[in-house]
Amino acid sequence: MTAKELPIWPFRQTILDTVFKHPITVIIGETGSGKTTQIAQMLDKAYCAREGCIGVTQPRRVAALTVARRVAEEMRCEVGQEVGYRVRFEERTSRRTRIVYLTDGTLLREMLDDPELSAYSVIVLDEAHERSLNTDVLFGVLKSLVKTRQKPLKLILTSATLDSAKFSAYFDGCPVLNIPGRQYEVQIVHSQGNHENDYLAAAVDTALDIHLHQPPGDILVFLTGQAEIDKAVKQLSEAIAELPEDSCPDLLILPLYAAMPLELQARVFAPPPDGCRRLIMATNIAETSITVDGVVYVVDPGMVKQKSYTPATGMESLHVVPISRVQATQRAGRAGRVCNGKCYRLYTAQFFEREMSETTVPEIQRTNMLTAVLYLKSLPLDIDVLAFDYLDSPGSEALEDALRQLLILDALDRDGHITELGRRMAALPLEPSLARSLLAAADHDCLPETLTAAAMLSAETIFLGNRQGELSEQGRAALAELMKEGLGDHILMLRIFQAWERNSFSSKWCKDMGLDVRGMHFAREVRKQLADLGSCKSQARGGLCLAGVDALRRALLVGFANRLARRMPRHNGYKTLNERATLAQLHPATARIAADEDGLMPEFVIYYALFATAKVFLSKVCPMDSEWVEDILPKLRNIDVERLSGGMTTKKAAKRAAVVGDLSEKQVVKNVPVANA
Ligand code: ADP
Ligand code: MG
Repeated sequence: MTAKELPIWPFRQTILDTVFKHPITVIIGETGSGKTTQIAQMLDKAYCAREGCIGVTQPRRVAALTVARRVAEEMRCEVGQEVGYRVRFEERTSRRTRIVYLTDGTLLREMLDDPELSAYSVIVLDEAHERSLNTDVLFGVLKSLVKTRQKPLKLILTSATLDSAKFSAYFDGCPVLNIPGRQYEVQIVHSQGNHENDYLAAAVDTALDIHLHQPPGDILVFLTGQAEIDKAVKQLSEAIAELPEDSCPDLLILPLYAAMPLELQARVFAPPPDGCRRLIMATNIAETSITVDGVVYVVDPGMVKQKSYTPATGMESLHVVPISRVQATQRAGRAGRVCNGKCYRLYTAQFFEREMSETTVPEIQRTNMLTAVLYLKSLPLDIDVLAFDYLDSPGSEALEDALRQLLILDALDRDGHITELGRRMAALPLEPSLARSLLAAADHDCLPETLTAAAMLSAETIFLGNRQGELSEQGRAALAELMKEGLGDHILMLRIFQAWERNSFSSKWCKDMGLDVRGMHFAREVRKQLADLGSCKSQARGGLCLAGVDALRRALLVGFANRLARRMPRHNGYKTLNERATLAQLHPATARIAADEDGLMPEFVIYYALFATAKVFLSKVCPMDSEWVEDILPKLRNIDVERLSGGMTTKKAAKRAAVVGDLSEKQVVKNVPVANA
């Protein structure tokens, strides 16, 4: 479709006029109507570029890259010229760049250096309905910046479906533009009788059935993750291979998920070969952020993988849960873009009505607020995070949990004010614990090792699939050798990188070791970038130095002091050392940790995540010496949360107000004086 054929085109002038007149505008339009690719171009042509550039945020890194590429094509320039992108550890922009696609997290980090975002004249918060944590934080921060910045700043929120009344009310009654989509009719077919428990098998069967019996048109199947997609692709390919030749037209199966290399992703935008039907197996990414033209059939198992976090225990979980009704409607809509379509729901109408919630709980209400609170505290706005103007509040428990963790990491002082260390942590493109470890590395003289560990832990994938699975005898032996030290995952990561270095960063070596070549090269690039950041200059040091490893473990201990666990007496289970001690086992995938003569595991470990599946596990673990931990323990005790949160925990504020007058908790929170109001 050319730009002029997109539903948004006729609304060009209305959009420009509205944005011109109002500081904040909400634009709602069906997925594929041209919001992400067109709005920035319209504004650029019209007037904004003279005042500064246009920043368009995306919740997903891959979306920022893909869209920048697409828009550069439309504007006939190279990515990095007039149109560019900036995401963590990767950027392509230049002085000529007028439109930047960036992740919401990147924009938030840019604010630390330039709180006024003075380079921008317009910020578009795209995919607002996704309610990613960083987008939600930006809602509040930018809403206030629009009012205070001398040079005018335009804020635009774009979204597929959202509660426009709620948004408009939050953004001071801003106008809401609705772009009517060209939606064809979509026939919805619910599964009859029983709810499909094995939705993967059901999805494969349904897709095959459509291919064999329905008229031409591409098929889009929603699954919950990469592993599931790989499995489904395999099953379906096998099923088709078993059919007699010429019994059906050709089928091109295309997986689509965020962690996929861009070149492969781009295949979904290429026109299919003649007479060939395409079947796209996608994660949620195809729900709103990527539009594939040509889809006529949607298969929706009604499930999504969702992260959640319990502040009281610090426990994370990643469960496959039912989608919301809004999401189900959105998915079905994907079938009606080119002609009348059909959506096969692998669940009953009753399930839709009774088991699915109306909307999805925003991420801010089910995630660890550590990083977000560190950002808010680092902005020179003196934000009271408990009283901050959230669209939906994360709740006092989650905020107090984050404050407590930040105190343990020395990012805040006892009164809850950001420290110099905290500022430096926020400025590093790493999660707070890794940032803290890196800063501690200077004191322990182990910067090279810590840089390596931080970089390796920042890469999405290091191991290819099943670690033991398809490795050669030789590879397995080599990996076992690297694990011999028995010091857990962080140290294994270090050893792997060092061994790779000794093998001249060879890709073949990675393959032999069952490592993801791309992930390893990414880690190397990240390491280079971190090393270049002023505060952590590294000097070269020889490979296997034991003092280096001990020093690295001590640096990690400082950074992960908020995630310490102690072994139970005469037992190999662990108990976390936070407020509510939680019992957990080391995850079976943990790299080898040596036991002592009595067969007991180390008394103390730090961990990367505490998570619940069938059991409660600690993952990515590093053992610590008891003497080192003694020095850290006092930090974990006697934390005065009240003082930390400015003497005004929400619970207490509500109680106090209840005595003074009959105010609801919510009103009281709003009435706590905020310096940035
Ligand atoms: P919205 O943001 O409203 O969902 P987009 O601006 O993303 O819409 O998409 C508008 C059109 O551009 C769609 O028809 C989509 O298929 C097409 N498009 C978007 N990205 C690409 C791409 N990388 N390659 C080819 N076509 C694309
Ligand atoms: Mg979009």
